[in-house]
Amino acid sequence: MTSQEQLFNSPCCAGDGHTIRQGGSHINIITLRKAPTWPYLALSNFLVPESKHHPLACAVVCDSCLIAKKEIKYAMAGVDNNGGVRYYRVPLIELREPELYWPDYYPGIRWR
Ligand SMILES: [Zn+2]
Repeated sequence: MTSQEQLFNSPCCAGDGHTIRQGGSHINIITLRKAPTWPYLALSNFLVPESKHHPLACAVVCDSCLIAKKEIKYAMAGVDNNGGVRYYRVPLIELREPELYWPDYYPGIRWR
């Protein structure tokens, strides 16, 4: 199973009881204003030097929850697993505030 398939089969970060695949046909990765305590899945940006040392946690939500603007409850983390990745959710309340939220330093860039 590829990492993408593994992610499709993971539970949605905005809901309980359904996978990303069950909620639609896209993998929607949302950058959070939280610092991850794991190396992967986390966002950095090669155009933004600060992001290398201050990556941000990400949530993965299904199409249905994205369209409904459901509250995100979890971040998604991943660990190496037999040549692939095993994803697991981490409750947002367990994450810390980022030391530096680098999107604030680039107000001219439109972050989506
Ligand atoms: Zn969902």
